[in-house]
Amino acid sequence: MKLQSYDKLLNSKHRLSLMLFLFLNTATALFCLCSVNGKITTFQFSPPTALIVIMSVMIVAWMLLKPSGKFPLLNIVALITGLLWTWQIYLKYEKVFYFDGSFLVISLMSVFFISAIALGDHLLAFCLHTVPPSVAVLVLDRGHNTLLILFTVALPLIGYTLHHLMLRQRDRFTRQLMRQLYEEKETYSDLSMLDPLTGLYNRRGLKNRLDNILENHAGSHFVLLLDIDNFKAYNDNYGHAMGDQALARVSVAIRDAVRSRDIVTRYGGEEFLVLMTNVNESIARKLSERIRQYVLNLEIPHRFNDRVATSVTVSAGFAPLLEDDFDAALANADRALYLAKSRGRNTILSYEDIVKSSRKQSADAL
Ligand code: GH3
Ligand code: MG
Ligand code: MG
Repeated sequence: MKLQSYDKLLNSKHRLSLMLFLFLNTATALFCLCSVNGKITTFQFSPPTALIVIMSVMIVAWMLLKPSGKFPLLNIVALITGLLWTWQIYLKYEKVFYFDGSFLVISLMSVFFISAIALGDHLLAFCLHTVPPSVAVLVLDRGHNTLLILFTVALPLIGYTLHHLMLRQRDRFTRQLMRQLYEEKETYSDLSMLDPLTGLYNRRGLKNRLDNILENHAGSHFVLLLDIDNFKAYNDNYGHAMGDQALARVSVAIRDAVRSRDIVTRYGGEEFLVLMTNVNESIARKLSERIRQYVLNLEIPHRFNDRVATSVTVSAGFAPLLEDDFDAALANADRALYLAKSRGRNTILSYEDIVKSSRKQSADAL
């Protein structure tokens, strides 16, 4: 779940608030249009309520037809309906023959009822909808029931403001929590792509980068497979902890020898894979040779590598990545590595060299 999904959720809540608001207004307006007297219901036309019904139906129809659209209408609709209710209160006030202030208070309460239910999360819309009728009621009342009316207005307003502040605080907290969770998820996802001992990519990291490179960077790439020579003997004689140290130092040497755009991976125990991007055969050879030299230059003592050198060395094979077939390139690089080992270790071999020499051998045999 991303931060955008939370924003989407808020947007859909906004949409539902608008729909509920329009529904409540339509229902109240229809009730006002039908004058109920005992069991007799008569139709009593009044322009503001008719306008409320028409406007609400049109907006709801539009929203249903465009379910994915954004509707930044709430404030405008709240203001228009607030003004229409004010007009309605004026019209009706002229016709009511009883007067003890209850008509005005009841009218105000219905306006506040609609706002409280539908505009719980929208302070501005709440005010735009309730202020015009409240002012109208105070003016029409001419000071007869000012206290009663002010109480009717003030109580929901104070309650609402406090409720709104609490919601804002909760929303801020949720948003912060979401951001934190998202950042942590990113960190863990990054960590899951790295090898803890060497800090290099692991196989998962390589796959991730490889997919990205194959998708976005057409070019000539090479796969280089490296293996530390006689490392079992190193471990057996110097101990596992020293072995780990040697692995970490070799990793740094490999990273230093190649360019920042090359992907260096710890592919297995003492095996490394370098994806050399946008290189030709000769640059790939130079980079591979440089790695071999850098590892040798570390001069990590390894007496049990004596048939090769007195320090830790690596052998490697590399092959071109053709037609995005990574597995084939890896198999070819592995073949070259195997041959490099058999040719005495501390050696780099290109798969193309093997192909050429086997072609030459078959030509000589003929
Ligand atoms: P070769 O030159 O043919 O590659 O011989 P090798 O001894 O390097 O090859 P082998 O596959 O027999 O041994 C690899 C050794 O690498 C085995 C294990 O002791 C060591 N190794 C693998 N992973 C780790 C590691 O994470 N830490 C340490 N200290 N040693 C490891
Ligand atoms: Mg090995
Ligand atoms: Mg080895």
